[in-house]
Amino acid sequence: MRSCSPPTPICSPACSTAVTNDPSGVVTFVVEAADPADPLPDFIPGQYVSVGATLPDGARQLRQYSLVHAPRDGRLAFTVRPVAATADQPAGEVSNWLTTHVTVGDNLAITLPFGDLTLDTAASTPVVLISAGIGITPMIGILEYLAAGTAQRQVLVAHADRNPDIHPLRTVRRDLVDALPNADLELWYEQPSGDSRTGTLTVSALDLPAEADIYLCGGAGFLQSVRAQLTAAGVPLTRVHSELFSPDDWLLR
Ligand SMILES: Cc1cc2nc3c(=O)[nH]c(=O)nc-3n(C[C@H](O)[C@H](O)[C@H](O)COP(=O)(O)OP(=O)(O)OC[C@H]3O[C@@H](n4cnc5c(N)ncnc54)[C@H](O)[C@@H]3O)c2cc1C
Repeated sequence: MRSCSPPTPICSPACSTAVTNDPSGVVTFVVEAADPADPLPDFIPGQYVSVGATLPDGARQLRQYSLVHAPRDGRLAFTVRPVAATADQPAGEVSNWLTTHVTVGDNLAITLPFGDLTLDTAASTPVVLISAGIGITPMIGILEYLAAGTAQRQVLVAHADRNPDIHPLRTVRRDLVDALPNADLELWYEQPSGDSRTGTLTVSALDLPAEADIYLCGGAGFLQSVRAQLTAAGVPLTRVHSELFSPDDWLLR
């Protein structure tokens, strides 16, 4: 393990203390304060941090990553999906740098946790978590919080992906749902697979609990489709909390 010397801070200098590869190809990083006198800030389940990286060309870059652990012990954890190159687009810069270069003992700069996709931890209302692809990450953070507590909230989890092999944190999520006394899981895969549903996520197939708080995360098309379906199902959008994993949130307005 390399020693940790604090980098020039954006907010909090952090040291990577664990790096876990998921079979789907995503990588989870756990970070702790590089300097115990400068602890990492606390957060609300569902929030994200911005992670600062200095790339090999010297460029400083910031990217957002949702927190996937329950708040505890001054540690923060986030999961990164490497964005692969396609015929039309280059590989993602920061996601690939993080997942191929950062290891235990490396330093990162972490900003204050932020974001509105936050669980109302004081409420006892049912919770519905709907995600697609890497949009699963804030839902994992919320499930971790619920599983670590004593509240017996009703939870409905729905996730859409292309197939189970690329479904991020699939086993982690299954274990969390199994650990909760009152939680159900519904899966949709575009490619036929086992006992999951095939095709795109359909809200009318969900048994939505009355008065649920609904949390939604994924790409723009997914969010627009699910929000429209929720509206058609009579769910007031005041109960729907959405997060888009790109800066194009004007698309939703
Ligand atoms: C609130 C929030 C939370 C998030 N949480 C997570 C999370 O938990 N996990 C996670 O993995 N991601 C998350 N993201 C996404 C993450 O912040 C990054 O956007 C993602 O990792 C891609 O960053 P990158 O530097 O690898 O890609 P970039 O280099 O920024 O590229 C992004 C896209 O643009 C394309 N592109 C780049 N340059 C060009 C060009 N010249 N011409 C055409 N196309 C180009 C790339 O091919 C790629 O598809 C979140 C985003 C937000 C806003």
